[in-house]
Amino acid sequence: MKPIFNFSAGPAVLPKEVLIQAQAELPDWHASGMSVMEMSHRGKEFMQIAAEAEQDLRDLMQIPQQYRVLFLQGGAHLQFSMVPLNLLRNKSSADYVNTGIWSKKAIDEAAKFCQVNVVASSSDKNYSYVPDLATWQLNPNAAYLHITSNETIGGVEMFTLPDSGEVPLVCDMSSHILSRPVDVSRYGLIYAGAQKNIGPAGLTIVIIREDLIGHAASSVPTMLDYKIHAENESMYNTPPTYAIYMAGLVFKWLKQQGGLAAMEQRNIEKANLLYDYIDASNFYRSPVALENRSRMNIPFTLPDSSMDAAFLQAAQQQGLLQLKGHKLVGGMRASIYNAMPIEGVQTLVAFMQQFAKDNK
Ligand SMILES: *Cc1c(COP(=O)(O)O)cnc(C)c1O
Repeated sequence: MKPIFNFSAGPAVLPKEVLIQAQAELPDWHASGMSVMEMSHRGKEFMQIAAEAEQDLRDLMQIPQQYRVLFLQGGAHLQFSMVPLNLLRNKSSADYVNTGIWSKKAIDEAAKFCQVNVVASSSDKNYSYVPDLATWQLNPNAAYLHITSNETIGGVEMFTLPDSGEVPLVCDMSSHILSRPVDVSRYGLIYAGAQKNIGPAGLTIVIIREDLIGHAASSVPTMLDYKIHAENESMYNTPPTYAIYMAGLVFKWLKQQGGLAAMEQRNIEKANLLYDYIDASNFYRSPVALENRSRMNIPFTLPDSSMDAAFLQAAQQQGLLQLKGHKLVGGMRASIYNAMPIEGVQTLVAFMQQFAKDNK
C-alpha cells in the first residue's frame, strides 16, 4: 500500500510509533487489566501516567521550577477568556498584537472583559507578516501583552520576542509548541491546544508562572480559575485522561528523537525543502514575508485558483491529504508538524513539480 501523508492543520498527524504503542496498550495498560480509558483519574496507575507526562514536558521545554503546568480542557478558545479573567489583576487594559485570525479571535474575546489595546497589526497586508517589534506601541500599565507566536491559518511565525519589561508576556503557542526550544522564563503564561503538535483534541496545556495564579475575581466560575486547577494538580474535575496519556507518549517520543533542538533542525530542513521549491518554481507562490514564514503551516497558491480543485484531487490520488487552504486565505496549506516525516515533504514536492510541469 502507498503511504498516506496527512497535512491537516489540526487535528493533525501523530507519530506512527506512538499510535502503534497506543494500539498495543489499548485494552490492557502495563498488565493493569484496564485500558487507560477505564482508569480512575485518582488511581495510582493514572496518577503515574499524568505525573510522567508533566515531568517529560518539563524536561523537554526546560520549564523552570516556579512555573506550573496545567492539563485543562476547552481548547485554546477557552484560554481567550481565561487569560483576561485571571490576569487582569485590577488593571483595566491589556495589550494584544494582531497578526492573524487567531489573534483576532483572542482580541474579540478579551474585549468582553477589558479595554484591549491593539499595539501592532498586520491586517493591512492580509496578515502576511509580523510588524517590526520596534513599532509596537506597548503600554507599561497593561495587565499583560498577548501574542500568537504561530498563526496557523496565515502561516506566520514569530521568531523574536518583544521585551515587555514587567508586563507578563502571554502566548498562544498552539501550533508550534515543541517544534523548537523556547525560553519559558520569558513568558508569564503559555497556552496550547493539544491537537496540532501534542496529541489528540480535548487537552489544553497551560504553563503559568506561579505569581500569576490566584488573581481571579470571586465572580469567576470555579472551572475558569487557574488557582483551582493548580491546587488540585489539574484534577479538580475529571481531566481528559486518554488525551493526557497520548500526549505523554508523544513527549517520550520527542525525547527519543533527541528533544526540541533536534526537532528544530528537522523542522528547518523540512520547511526549507518546501519553501525553496516554492520560491524556485515560477508556478507556486508563498504569500508570507520571508522572515516570518512558519515552519509548521505553509500556505501557497497556484497561478490561478481555478486550478485548485484539480491540484487537490490529484494530490489525494497520490496519498497527499488535507492540503486545502483555509477559506480566508485560499490556495493550499501544508501543515508539517513534528510528526510529519521528511518523506512526506519530499513526496509533496515531487508531486508539486509534476503538477506544475503538467499544467504549464
Ligand atoms: C487551532 C488554534 C486555536 C483554536 O484551538 P481550539 O483548541 O480549537 O480552541 C487557537 N489558536 C491557534 C494558534 C490555533 O492554531
